[in-house]
Amino acid sequence: MSAAIIDGKAVAAELVARVAEAAAALKVEAGVVPGLAAVLVGDDPASAVYVRSKGKRTREAGMASFEHRLPATATQAELLDLVARLNIDPQVHGILVQLPLPPQIDAAAVIDAISPAKDVDGFHAINVGRLASGLEAMVPCTPLGARMLLRRALGDMSGAEAVVLGRSNIVGKPMAQLLLAENCTVTLAHSRSRDLPALCRRADILVAAVGRPEMVRGDWIRPGATVIDVGINRVAGADGGSRLVGDVAFDEAIAVAGAITPVPGGVGPMTIACLLANTLTACRRSLGLASATLFD
Ligand code: NDP
Repeated sequence: MSAAIIDGKAVAAELVARVAEAAAALKVEAGVVPGLAAVLVGDDPASAVYVRSKGKRTREAGMASFEHRLPATATQAELLDLVARLNIDPQVHGILVQLPLPPQIDAAAVIDAISPAKDVDGFHAINVGRLASGLEAMVPCTPLGARMLLRRALGDMSGAEAVVLGRSNIVGKPMAQLLLAENCTVTLAHSRSRDLPALCRRADILVAAVGRPEMVRGDWIRPGATVIDVGINRVAGADGGSRLVGDVAFDEAIAVAGAITPVPGGVGPMTIACLLANTLTACRRSLGLASATLFD
């Protein structure tokens, strides 16, 4: 038996097309173009690449992109001042501050300063609390994308045993909340959990988000399980170069799982697609409109 491959690239392209269509309709109906402001502090090359590519993808979806760059020496007050201006800018519906931030800046204070309505990363405590309370919230993009892939692969998840490996605020915790909302029985595992292989073998749905290359082996996986590999790890390749691998040993897992996301081409492309979707949602909500149906 060989697992079905969950094609995140294709699902992401479909989601982006839906967002673009809904953004175009909004422009015709309400004369409003959804706008995403990305803030980059310093000159970390990886962060600069992310921000550039987010801007490009935003424009491709027919939305407005605003890039704000501050020097690595920027003070917390300067960044908070910029966030305050973006919070009241009517052309900006989503704000993302690219992490990590330089050491003189308190990231938690900056996240706290972003208007929850414009918090398209879903990191503000108001959105975290709303998600946990089962209220309408801005949901972090990576777990939102993973849930869309799971809905596509499985449909109704009620009663499924779900194990999430990793408890970060960005991936693991919101993923667990989303699976709970899908009526799964959820186990959230982390570096202090005992006997991870046995925990994982219980899972009908296994989400790996630990940042440890190929930690999850084939014999950790229950036959037929659906495996979502969030990990993105760069390791040395056989040719002296480097390659990307997930947190799951793909070649072993594919022989056991029922369905699995590849790395790259699984969860990764969903993250940016969900950022665009969240920006559209924030814009619609600012106009008092219901969220467009994007994720089914
Ligand atoms: P963090 O480093 O913030 O969190 C890692 C989590 O994994 C922690 O909860 C940690 O436990 C747990 N963990 C670490 N080592 C082990 C271990 N040996 N056994 C069990 N649990 C362990 O990472 P992120 O959540 O930000 O990211 C996780 C992975 O997902 C990374 O590879 C990252 O690159 C990738 N990622 C991919 C995205 C995408 O777009 N596809 C977006 C975001 C992240 P503890 O809390 O106890 O320390």
